[in-house]
Amino acid sequence: WAKAEGRNRWVSYDPARRSRERTRSALIAGMAAALQRDEFLIDYQPIVTLADGTICAVEALVRWQHPELGLLGPDEFIGLAEETGLIVELGRWVLARACEAASRWHREFPDARLVVSVNLAARQARDPAVVGTVSEVLRQTDLPADLLQLELTESAVMATAGEPLPALRKLAALGVRLAIDDFGTGYSNLAYLRRLPIHNLKLAGPFVEGIRSSDRQGLVDGRIVDALVRLAHALGLTVTAEAVETVGQADQLRALGCDAAQGRHFAAPAPEGEITRWLAARAERRREGVR
Ligand code: C2E
Ligand code: MG
Ligand code: MG
Ligand code: MG
Repeated sequence: WAKAEGRNRWVSYDPARRSRERTRSALIAGMAAALQRDEFLIDYQPIVTLADGTICAVEALVRWQHPELGLLGPDEFIGLAEETGLIVELGRWVLARACEAASRWHREFPDARLVVSVNLAARQARDPAVVGTVSEVLRQTDLPADLLQLELTESAVMATAGEPLPALRKLAALGVRLAIDDFGTGYSNLAYLRRLPIHNLKLAGPFVEGIRSSDRQGLVDGRIVDALVRLAHALGLTVTAEAVETVGQADQLRALGCDAAQGRHFAAPAPEGEITRWLAARAERRREGVR
């Protein structure tokens, strides 16, 4: 009896935690059905070439239109999907939808050569079927491989014992572009960079955020970005800055030789139709320019 009471003391009645846990299990339980019910959607955030301000790519960002909880961002469910393994199926769905959209843009606006950039979770990258999945989606959507970029985090690209993931070379051999996402927040092991078949570094938000300030930390972050851009270029990689929110950040990134940028300063993530209208408007401006 005393033991039972003792054990009861370990059961904490923290209502906030209980409700978090209820939400967590509800989300896990709902996610598989949500795929069947078509509750996921994708927004596309423009990525802009800093030298001329043209849109060169869009990043596919998944959302969940939850029937009770409203619109959920990926930070609220991608981690859970990784835990349960559903990320493999959800990721395949995102890849297929994004490549279909990219294929439509490519057919309608071939001159734009718009790249679609898709996030690949660590667990997806380790899935033995990943290379087959990617090549099958490219074939089905008839999308040229070089119009697809896959974004992987530093930890996802490194398999065991500091060896690059074997799938990376096979993915690169398909002709798709590979990017390291959130660069500078993971292992930041510079030695591995030259051994990876990658094309693009996506510089993590915190560095970009830092360079706007004129204080000491801002100077240090500016120098870090400067050094990373030089390093990337020395390795033949392009650099894309994430989370660019101000004109000052954009100007400084351009001055530092950063190749491309993405963030609310340029455009927020938007539905496919908005990207299509943007491409149409640009094609129209170009036709007028030629006339
Ligand atoms: P990420 O790949 O680093 O994507 C960039 C995130 O920055 C997006 O958050 C985007 O909405 C946000 N962002 C855009 N402009 C700005 C800005 O000006 N300032 C700041 N601070 N942030 C900005 P989002 O959409 O909430 O996605 C969060 C993360 O979820 C993504 O980070 C990515 O890691 C993951 N994610 C999104 N879609 C997928 C997916 O389909 N599969 C997988 N595995 N992960 C995904
Ligand atoms: Mg990303
Ligand atoms: Mg990122
Ligand atoms: Mg991220």
